[in-house]
Amino acid sequence: MYLGRLAEVAPTRVLFEAPKHPYTQLLLAALPQLDTRGRDKSPITGEIPSPLDPPSGCTFHPRCPHANERCKAEKPELSAQPDGSQVACHAVQERRIPVLFHPVAPSART
Ligand code: SF4
Repeated sequence: MYLGRLAEVAPTRVLFEAPKHPYTQLLLAALPQLDTRGRDKSPITGEIPSPLDPPSGCTFHPRCPHANERCKAEKPELSAQPDGSQVACHAVQERRIPVLFHPVAPSART
């Protein structure tokens, strides 16, 4: 959820193993880890916009590394993905960004 809108809905395991929305990917990349070698310490740039005056189109576009002109003008709706998740992102719908795969440790699986 970002600025009051659903960005991605998925079963827990799917969300953590293969996050699709750029905001989800950046949030997971920001999780603290003991081994920080080669990691960007602040992967989400910029400030959170005011929910009273949200950005046009996709509200995440000022901070998204995959934003384009469509993102600035058109609000993305949730769309069903083959793995059962739903994602509100033009780049995911257009297959412009890769799905990152992060295997979840067996002990963390539900
Ligand atoms: S719709 Fe555009 S700005 Fe919004 S998350 Fe997707 S790529 Fe980024």
